[in-house]
Amino acid sequence: MAVVPIYNRIIVPFGSIVIMNEHYTKVTGRIPNEGEKTVLILSRENLLREEFREDSFYPIGVTGVITEVNKSGYLVVRTSNRVNINEVTIYRDHTIDLDISKRKDTDPVDREEEALRLKKMKAAINSFSMQMPNGKGVMSAFLAQWTSIGEIAAAMSPWMMNTPEEKYSVLAVDSAKERLDLLERMIYENIETYRINNEAESAQKEEYQKVYRESAIRKQIEYLQKELDEMHPEEVSEIRKFEIRIEESGMNETARKEADKVLNRLKQEGANSVESGILYDYLDFVTGLSWKKEKAETIDLDEAEQVLNETHYGLDKVKKRILEQIAVMNLKRMQAGSILLFVGAPGTGKTSIGQGIAQALNRKYVRVSLGGVRDEADIRGHRRTYIGAMPGRIMDGIAKSGVSNPVMVLDEVDKLSASYNGDPASALLEVLDPEQNNTFTDHYMNVPYDLSSVLFICTANSLDTVPAPLLDRMEVISFQGYTPYEKLQIAEKHLLPKAMRAVGIRSENLEVGEDVLNKIIADYTREAGVRTLKKRLDTLCRTAAVEIVRGNDKQLVIHENELRDYLDMRPISHGKVGKEGKPGVVTGLAWTQVGGEILFIETLMTKGTGKIIVTGQLGDVMKESSTIAISLVKSLYPEKAELFEKNDLHIHVPDGATPKDGPSAGITMTTALASLVTGIPVTPETAMTGEISLQGDVRPIGGLPEKLMAAQRAGVRRVFIPAENEEDLRDVPGEVLEELQIVPVRRAEDVLGALSLVETKE
Ligand code: ADP
Repeated sequence: MAVVPIYNRIIVPFGSIVIMNEHYTKVTGRIPNEGEKTVLILSRENLLREEFREDSFYPIGVTGVITEVNKSGYLVVRTSNRVNINEVTIYRDHTIDLDISKRKDTDPVDREEEALRLKKMKAAINSFSMQMPNGKGVMSAFLAQWTSIGEIAAAMSPWMMNTPEEKYSVLAVDSAKERLDLLERMIYENIETYRINNEAESAQKEEYQKVYRESAIRKQIEYLQKELDEMHPEEVSEIRKFEIRIEESGMNETARKEADKVLNRLKQEGANSVESGILYDYLDFVTGLSWKKEKAETIDLDEAEQVLNETHYGLDKVKKRILEQIAVMNLKRMQAGSILLFVGAPGTGKTSIGQGIAQALNRKYVRVSLGGVRDEADIRGHRRTYIGAMPGRIMDGIAKSGVSNPVMVLDEVDKLSASYNGDPASALLEVLDPEQNNTFTDHYMNVPYDLSSVLFICTANSLDTVPAPLLDRMEVISFQGYTPYEKLQIAEKHLLPKAMRAVGIRSENLEVGEDVLNKIIADYTREAGVRTLKKRLDTLCRTAAVEIVRGNDKQLVIHENELRDYLDMRPISHGKVGKEGKPGVVTGLAWTQVGGEILFIETLMTKGTGKIIVTGQLGDVMKESSTIAISLVKSLYPEKAELFEKNDLHIHVPDGATPKDGPSAGITMTTALASLVTGIPVTPETAMTGEISLQGDVRPIGGLPEKLMAAQRAGVRRVFIPAENEEDLRDVPGEVLEELQIVPVRRAEDVLGALSLVETKE
C-alpha cells in the first residue's frame, strides 16, 4: 500500500498514492497516461480524495515520469528526484496545489561498491525466487534490467512487508550512502521473511516428500546392494552384514540411532584400526539381542504343575506358590509378576526349579550368578570408553537367552557386596523395579532396553546379607532342606537316573538298592540339600561304568559294604550324640547357611579370681548371651554365688554356627551353666534352642525346621523350643516330628525343672 522512493523507477498500485499532473498542481482523478510527468506524495493515512487535508501528507515526495500503465492496476513510474513538499493547498473541488523544491542528497554512493553489492543481491534474489513455491524464477527475468539497488527496492516495494512509515523513513534520509544501506537491509529482511513463511507453509509437505524420497533412495540402495551381494556372496562385508542385522533386529529408535552411529564410525575407522574391534563387538552384541516383544501366553496350570512335578520331587509349598504366580500372570496377561526370592541351603533345588518354571512357562531359562559381585559395572556394564568394556551381567544374560522374556535366575543375591566401585545392589534394584526396568540402560549399550517381560527369580542362602531395599521388593519363599526320606526319593527318581544317563549306563546294567542309597545319604553326605548326594551318585556311576565296560559284570549290583571303594572315601563321622552327658555340656541347635547343625556348648570352672573367658568363632556375639546367662544363673542359684568368685569361668562355643546364632544359644548356655554349678549332667540326647532374657523368659528364634531336622539327624530325642515358635512346627516334615519329643517352653525354669536342675514348684 505504498511506495518506497526510488532512484529511477517505481511501481505504484493505483489509488495508493497521490499522483500529480505534469504541472504539479492537480490531483489526477483519472488513470494517468504513459509519458506524463508526476509527483508522488505519500499520505499518512489511507484516505479518499475527498477526505484529504493539508496536513495529510508526508513532507518529502518524489518526481518522475509514468512509463507504463499496467492493466492489472499498477503504474510504473520512472522517478527523478526527491522533493520537499513546502506547501499543500486543497481547493473545494478537491484539487491540490503543491509548492515543491528539489531535495539534495549528501554522501554520494561509490558506484563500484554499489555494483558489487548489487551483484550479491541479485544472486540472493535469484536463489530465493527459484525457491518460491509458485512462480518459480519469475523474478529472474527482471534481474538483468535492474541497474541499482534502488530500482530493486522500487520493484519489490508493493510486496514488501514494511509499513508506509518504515518506507517513508528511508526516503527521508538525506545520505545516499545510508539510504542504500537501509534499502539493502530492508530487501534482505524481506527475502528472509518470505522464505520463512514459505518454509512454514510447505514444511509439512516437504517433510512428506523427504520421507518418501528417503525411503525411495533406501529401497534403491537395498536393491542394488542385494544384487551386488548376490554376485559376490563371498565378499559381503562385515559392515554390510551389520547393516542387515541392524535392519532385521527390530530395535527401538534410540538403539537404532546408536547402532547406526557406531556403524558409521566403523566405516570411517576401517577394519584395521585399534578401535574397530570395540565397535565390532558392540554391534555384534546389540544386534544379537532380541528386540522383539513377546506375547504373553496363557499357561495351562495343570500342565505347568505336571512339569514342576516331573522336574522336582516334593517342594509342595514352593510349587503351590509358583502356580499362584502363574495364575496371576495368566489373569493379568503379564509376562512377569512379583519377584520371588528363593532362600535356603545349597542344593535344595532353588536354581534348578527356576529351570523347571521356565519349562512350565514354555520360556527360555538363563542363570546369572551374582556371587562375589562388588562392582556396579558388573550389573550395569562398563562405559564403552573403557578399554575392555563389557555389558553387565543382566544384559549379557538377555543376550545369551536370545529372547526378551526369559526366566532369569539371579543366583546368590546375598553374596553381593558394595565397594568403592559403586553399589551393585542399587543397580540391581533398578533392574528389578517394574517402574523403571522397561528402560534399563546398560552403560555399555548406552541405550534403553525393556526388561519388563523378564521373569526374575532370585536365590540366596541366607536373608541376613540380602540388602534391605532389595528384600523389600521380593517375595521370600524358603527352601528348608530335605529329610533323609525325601533325599531318598530324589535320589531314586531324579539323581540316580540322571547320573546313569550321563555316563551311558542302562538301568538293566546297574542296581543300586534303597539300603545303599540310604547309606550314602546317611554316611557319605552331610547337608540340607542334595548337592553332595548328587556328586556321590555321579562318582558311583563313573566307577560302575568302568566295571561294566571291563566286562567284569554285565549286571552290576552295588552293596552297602562296597561303598567305601566305589566312592573312594571314608564315611563321614556324624556328630551323633551319645547317651552319657557331662556336667556343664549341653547340646544346642544352630542354623547355618548349609542347613541346621547341632553344637555342644561347653562350660568349665577352674580355680581363679572370677574371670570370664568366652572362646570360639562367635566371641563377641556370644559374650552378650553368656553375660545374661551368667547373671541369670547367679540369681537362680544364689547359694552358688561363691563359685563364680573363686573360679574362672570358661565358655566355649565350637565352630559351625553363624553370628546370628549368638542370641539363640541363650537357653543352652543358661542350662550348661546350671548343669555346671549343680554338677548334674544333661544327656546329649536332649537339645534346645531359644533366646533368653534377664528375667528368664525364653524368646523365639529363627530357622526352627532346619534345626529340628539337624537334631533328628544327630539322634537327638527331645528338644526344648520357645513356645512362641510352636507355629513353625507346621513347616517341619512329619517324619522328623515323629522321632522327636518337642517341648515348648516359656521360662528358663521350665527347662531346668524338666532336667531336674532346679526343684520344680508344685
Ligand atoms: P540350589 O540352587 O538350591 O543350590 P540346585 O537347584 O543347584 O540347588 O540343585 C542341586 C541339584 O539337586 C540339581 O541337580 C537339582 O536338579 C537337584 N535337586 C534339588 N532338589 C531337587 C528336587 N526336589 N527334586 C529333584 N532334584 C532336585
